[in-house]
Amino acid sequence: MRILITNDDGIYSPGIAALAEVASSFGDACIVAPDVEMSSAAHSITASRPLSYKSTPHRAVEAYRVNGTPADCVALGNHIWGRVDLVLSGINLGLNLGNSMWHSGTLAGAKQATLLGLRGIAFSIPVGDDEPDFERVKPWVARALDLLIPAQDLRLVNVNLPAETPRGIVWTCQSVRHYDGKVADMKDPLGRPVYWITVTPLDAAEEGTDRWAVENGYVSMTPLRLDLTDQSALAKVLARKSG
Ligand code: MN
Repeated sequence: MRILITNDDGIYSPGIAALAEVASSFGDACIVAPDVEMSSAAHSITASRPLSYKSTPHRAVEAYRVNGTPADCVALGNHIWGRVDLVLSGINLGLNLGNSMWHSGTLAGAKQATLLGLRGIAFSIPVGDDEPDFERVKPWVARALDLLIPAQDLRLVNVNLPAETPRGIVWTCQSVRHYDGKVADMKDPLGRPVYWITVTPLDAAEEGTDRWAVENGYVSMTPLRLDLTDQSALAKVLARKSG
C-alpha cells in the first residue's frame, strides 16, 4: 500500500514525524507537506502562482516540502509520486472537532484525497503547554488505522485523540450545535486597534459527538462525506415548486 502523508502544521512538525513512523509499518510511505505552517488554511489551493517541491531529510521516510497548502501537497504528491492508495493528514497539534472542521487545513488534506478518488484520514490531538507525548500516541494511531484501513467504504474519516491515554475508540458524529468564532479586540504597540479571531472550545457537547468523545477521554472517529446538500431543504423547495 502506498501512503501519502501531509499536514497543515508544516513539514518540520513533530506530529507529522510521528504519523510517518506509524504509517511506515502499514506500507510504503512518503511525506509531501507544506514548507511553513498552514493551520486554518482550510481547503484553499494555490492557483495564481506555480508550485515547486524540495527534498527534505527525514528519519522515517522519503519527504518533500512544498510552497503551498495541504490540498496543494496532496494534489502535487499524487501527481508526482503516483499510485497513492491512502492519504493521511496530521497529526495536527490542536483538535479539529465540530464546526472547526470548516477551517481545518489538516482535514482539507484528507478531503483533497477524497476529491481525487482516494481515501483520506485526518488525525488531530490537543496541545497544552507541553508537546503531546507522541510515543504514547503512536500505538493509538496504529490501532485506528487497523480499524480504518480494511473498511474500504470509509472514504473520509476525521480522527481526534484525547490529551490523556485514551479509554478506547468510538465512532461519532460531528458536533454542530455550537460555534464560537469570537473576535478579540486588542491594541497594537502604537495603540491602534487590531483584532484576533479565535475559535474557542466549548464547555459541553451532546453525547455521541466528536467533541463529547474527546472530552470523555476517547479517540473519536467520524466518517465524513463531501456532499453538503441539505436534503430536507431541497425536498421542501422542490415540493413548493411543484405545488
Ligand atoms: Mn495545524
